Amino acid sequence: MASPLPLAPDTPDPEFRDLLAQRPQLTAHAQDGLCLEDVPLARIAAEVGTPSWAYSANTLRRRYRALRDALGDAGLRATVHFAAKSNSNLAVLRVLAGEGAGADVVSGGELRLTVAGGIGADRTVFSGVGKTAAEVREALAANIFQINAESAEEVEMLSAVAAEMGLRAPVAIRVNPDVDARTHAKITTGKAENKFGVAIADAAALYARMASLPGIRPIGIAVHIGSQITEGVSAFRAAYARVAELVTALRGRGLPVERVDCGGGLGIPYRDEVAPKPEALAGAIAGALKHLDLPVMIEPGRWIAGPAGVLISRVVLVKHGATRRFVVLDAGMNDLLRPAMYDAWHGILPVGAELFHSARRPADVVGPVCETGDTFTRGRDLPELRPGDVVAMLDAGAYGAAMSSTYNARPLAAEVLVDGNRWAVVRERQPFEDLLARQSVPDWVAG
Ligand SMILES: *Cc1c(COP(=O)(O)O)cnc(C)c1O
Repeated sequence: MASPLPLAPDTPDPEFRDLLAQRPQLTAHAQDGLCLEDVPLARIAAEVGTPSWAYSANTLRRRYRALRDALGDAGLRATVHFAAKSNSNLAVLRVLAGEGAGADVVSGGELRLTVAGGIGADRTVFSGVGKTAAEVREALAANIFQINAESAEEVEMLSAVAAEMGLRAPVAIRVNPDVDARTHAKITTGKAENKFGVAIADAAALYARMASLPGIRPIGIAVHIGSQITEGVSAFRAAYARVAELVTALRGRGLPVERVDCGGGLGIPYRDEVAPKPEALAGAIAGALKHLDLPVMIEPGRWIAGPAGVLISRVVLVKHGATRRFVVLDAGMNDLLRPAMYDAWHGILPVGAELFHSARRPADVVGPVCETGDTFTRGRDLPELRPGDVVAMLDAGAYGAAMSSTYNARPLAAEVLVDGNRWAVVRERQPFEDLLARQSVPDWVAG
């Protein structure tokens, strides 16, 4: 990393009012301070404690519908499969299940969570490079909608497991189109050097092989080139064009192709990124695939859940260092890992009404974890925060709670669902006892 201050980009940060203007679920109320839908975040902080995640149900619904409608308006027969790895909270899954969403899962555990959240296995895609035979057995027994195979080796395993159960597994091949999604290196997945998918040049032969195996019903082609894709849809378009060529070639060989899974990856503006609209994604899909006249699927995670969530945190203390002002929060990288992991920028807003219009000066906002990487931002213009003040980190609904850990023996934060003026705790704060619960010390150590 070249810059000594990697979390402080050198263009001016968006103003508070710009952050709010782009996020209709958030408003700054003159008395109640920052509200998510109709619920003051200060009330959640007071009653549930901090750190806590809060999710806006209507944002989840609105964004799901925007994607579904954009695909429909582009003349596509399409289904939307929410990527549960971005947020697998049961209440979040239940809200999306209520909208008719399907799911995309990457482990047996996620499949169990989505089924518990009301999204049937028969609307769920099972992706991932390392599915075990046991996970595949469980998915097939649950009548999984589709399994995306990531390698020739996995195809053999899928067939053996399914045949043993007297079934044919509905399998799509996830191809690696060797397209550069131009996103962060840790979340690009569609380049030849990435571990994901089958090289597109090898896909036709593998598809023919699948058709000859007793345990497999080849149903389609899948592609997912990366996450947080901004700067237009040209990478999507390039990937889908390669998939379309492949589908045409397969059909030319008499191999049936029932559907194409276009993956996830649509980015969101965390700061000032220009993210493509759903209509642009739908246009890229329709442009490349519509002439094939088959149903398509997408697997968005971040685009649906990211803007729906905030992380509410309290200022522990403000430390006046030799050269910098450090605002130390009670949330850390164990809660929101994205800044440490991806150098991600998150909007930070004060929750108290009185802080919205007060004077600002630069601060480094950090967590309590004993790692320098536990830094949310550097040199951010923020009001004079004092111990006990509450702040909200924005766009934390995807890859937030789902990626959190108990590092530094910090229990997992509570999660809250907001729906209009109603709200409820949907995951209790983890009690400390949980951290001790499944540990034991052998006699020969205890002496
Ligand atoms: C992570 C992932 C997604 C979701 O990605 P987003 O960027 O959150 O939309 C979709 N499909 C697959 C296979 C994934 O691994």
